[in-house]
Amino acid sequence: MDKFIKQLDPNLDYINYEIKDGKCYITVASNHKEVTCPFCGRPSSRIHSTYNRTFQDLPIQGNKVFIIIRNRKMFCDNSD
Ligand SMILES: [Zn+2]
Repeated sequence: MDKFIKQLDPNLDYINYEIKDGKCYITVASNHKEVTCPFCGRPSSRIHSTYNRTFQDLPIQGNKVFIIIRNRKMFCDNSD
């Protein structure tokens, strides 16, 4: 499954999946160690918190598919 996810996006790691009530949930997470601050452009690797984003994909064999992406919020160490 990780190979499959990597083919979709090499920056995502496969975490797990669950099938519940005819719905398939696939959890993935970004594997970027460092991200660039969108405000000042400095790299940051200190994790502030994580949150999940869910979106629906095309059904597989009649099961609705939901992709859950574990996103991270980062600290910016730029005191300016
Ligand atoms: Zn910043």
